[in-house]
Amino acid sequence: MSRHADPSTATQIRDNWLRVSQQVADACHNVGRSPTDVKIVGVAKYVDAALTAQLVEAGCSIIGENRPQLLWEKHDWFLQHQLPMPRWHLIGHFQRNKVRRSLPLLDLIESVDSLRLAEEISTEAVRIGRTIPILVDVNVSKDVTKTGMSVDLLINDAERIAELPNLNWCGLMAMSTLDADSVVVAKEFSSVRELRDRLQVKLGERVKLCELSMGMSGDFAQAIAAGSTIVRIGSSLWKSII
Ligand SMILES: *Cc1c(COP(=O)(O)O)cnc(C)c1O
Repeated sequence: MSRHADPSTATQIRDNWLRVSQQVADACHNVGRSPTDVKIVGVAKYVDAALTAQLVEAGCSIIGENRPQLLWEKHDWFLQHQLPMPRWHLIGHFQRNKVRRSLPLLDLIESVDSLRLAEEISTEAVRIGRTIPILVDVNVSKDVTKTGMSVDLLINDAERIAELPNLNWCGLMAMSTLDADSVVVAKEFSSVRELRDRLQVKLGERVKLCELSMGMSGDFAQAIAAGSTIVRIGSSLWKSII
């Protein structure tokens, strides 16, 4: 259970946000990258809308949710309370029957894990007359529980995904193997980057795969060293809250 939003949680969340932002900036400087090249997605699946709003208020402008229902509820809550909307990223498995209701609310779908889902999103995007940025979730980890497309399947389907109308395919998302040692994690992140480079060559002008969404609370520094442009941070931001 998380705490109720109140002035003390606001202070704690602000401290957490400043600490995480500093750690991400330090991780960038350590490998000679600019902090402006790495966006922080505040993963808010652990908390309710009021606490999510306190994170936005603290300065986190991109919120990641892994379940569409939570996204809908929180989006409604922000509207009702007339609060400035953050940008919303979907980072969890997206069922095709949730696409229609979710699409108008989303700024980036990070978790496209099949050609069929990409087709569904494309069809809906055409219907509402909007182009939606997506990342493909690729499974490079050894965890059987992880979602995401296998590397072989992605290479096989890449051209078809790249050709779908009203999709702006702009990169890859990945997770490292849970509790793996740091050498394994570094290798996994590098393999995602290499896969991206390979796909970019294969697909040429049709896509610009600039974004690599990798790195969570426990491994963002290694992800940044491997070229991550988006880190998805949850638990560190909710320290002493959940
Ligand atoms: C929960 C989650 C995160 C955040 O993980 P933490 O370890 O809490 O920072 C990142 N990405 C995805 C896809 C998640 O589901």
